[in-house]
Amino acid sequence: MRNSPFTGPAGLGAFRRELRDWLDEHDLSPAGDDGGLDGQVGQLARVRRALWAAGWMRYGWPAEVGGLGGPSALRAVLGEEVAARDLAEPGIWSMVEVLVPTLIDYAPPALAAELVPRLLGGEEQWCQGFSEPGSGSDLASLSTRAVPSADGEGWRVSGQKVWTSLAQYAARCVLLARTGSPGHAGISAFLVDMDSPGITVRPLRTMHGVDEFAEVFLDDVHVPAPRLLGAPGDGWRLAMDLLPHERSTCFWHRIAHLYSRLDRLLADGCEADPDALGAAWLDLHTIRCRSAATQARLAGGGRLGPETSVDKILLAGAEQRLFDTARDLLPGTVELSPHAGWRTGYLYSRAATIYGGTAEIQRNIVARRLLDLGKE
Ligand SMILES: Cc1cc2nc3c(=O)[nH]c(=O)nc-3n(C[C@H](O)[C@H](O)[C@H](O)COP(=O)(O)OP(=O)(O)OC[C@H]3O[C@@H](n4cnc5c(N)ncnc54)[C@H](O)[C@@H]3O)c2cc1C
Repeated sequence: MRNSPFTGPAGLGAFRRELRDWLDEHDLSPAGDDGGLDGQVGQLARVRRALWAAGWMRYGWPAEVGGLGGPSALRAVLGEEVAARDLAEPGIWSMVEVLVPTLIDYAPPALAAELVPRLLGGEEQWCQGFSEPGSGSDLASLSTRAVPSADGEGWRVSGQKVWTSLAQYAARCVLLARTGSPGHAGISAFLVDMDSPGITVRPLRTMHGVDEFAEVFLDDVHVPAPRLLGAPGDGWRLAMDLLPHERSTCFWHRIAHLYSRLDRLLADGCEADPDALGAAWLDLHTIRCRSAATQARLAGGGRLGPETSVDKILLAGAEQRLFDTARDLLPGTVELSPHAGWRTGYLYSRAATIYGGTAEIQRNIVARRLLDLGKE
């Protein structure tokens, strides 16, 4: 294992070549039937453990959290290769891209150094507890409450989260709770152990038939003081910093996954309708170009902000168009084959305009914060 040798365009190319050779020699393909979500989460852990042990999973992350350094683009290349080979489900693969930068920026350094390697190395799965039954798009209205504990050693948290992806598998949760007055300034963030007394997780079934997310109930849960992320009241800033990460390297991985599905559509004999395939390809290519520009900004040390809402709008549109095309060109496949990948992909693509901020909210952000069009 060498320390951060992969810099510059030549370095990225070398990284990709060496990684491909390694993946050719070490077959990490899922064994047979994926066994549903349990199988996908197990496969994710297996792939991560192998890539961590061989060093690949460490590139692009700083030494402070067990990384080997180098540009963040190395993580984009790794995720792209993993997605192109179908080694892990792209959504759950990419969660580290959201949670780890947040931990690096906001957790006490000793906490990040201790726990991040467990996530990157496949020992643990984590989740993100933001949404609540009355607070999705209007996240700032959240009402889960954290109050200082009587012994002064931490916090007591009570409330309910919903749509928490993979909560039933998670060892930790990046959780938002209210510690002060109503509004943005009264929100704080915590890293909560999911096995703490007082936490109940109830999985929810999605329309594509898996329990991908869950309700999480918190009943007077003790959270130790060092688990506060940032300072009291930093929760909104953390959320605003975290959400653009859902729209950068994560998308690069997802785009690679969608290209593999377009290739599959061609392999399934759909080349007879070049117009429809061309339109699907064009949407994919557009978001790939946009996402490449976002990657370049990240590589230049830029902070991501509301402009990533454009990426989200393009990604959701491209994903839905691709699966709409599959539905049109493979009549009956989506509707009549409950176990086929096309059906799952089609149904999941409907969520693309909801998760990580709905399409309407993204357009509001573009109108207000990028185009300065005013509130209404
Ligand atoms: C697959 C999936 C995974 C998810 N994973 C997580 C997770 O891990 N952690 C987590 O915290 N959350 C997660 N979510 C929740 C997601 O962030 C919310 O569903 C999303 O923010 C929308 O909130 P809501 O569901 O409460 O809808 P609402 O906010 O109630 O919105 C309902 C409808 O009203 C529209 N609307 C609302 N306000 C406005 C407005 N001001 N202007 C115009 N239109 C508006 C919306 O666009 C939407 O069409 C996940 C969701 C999905 C689908």
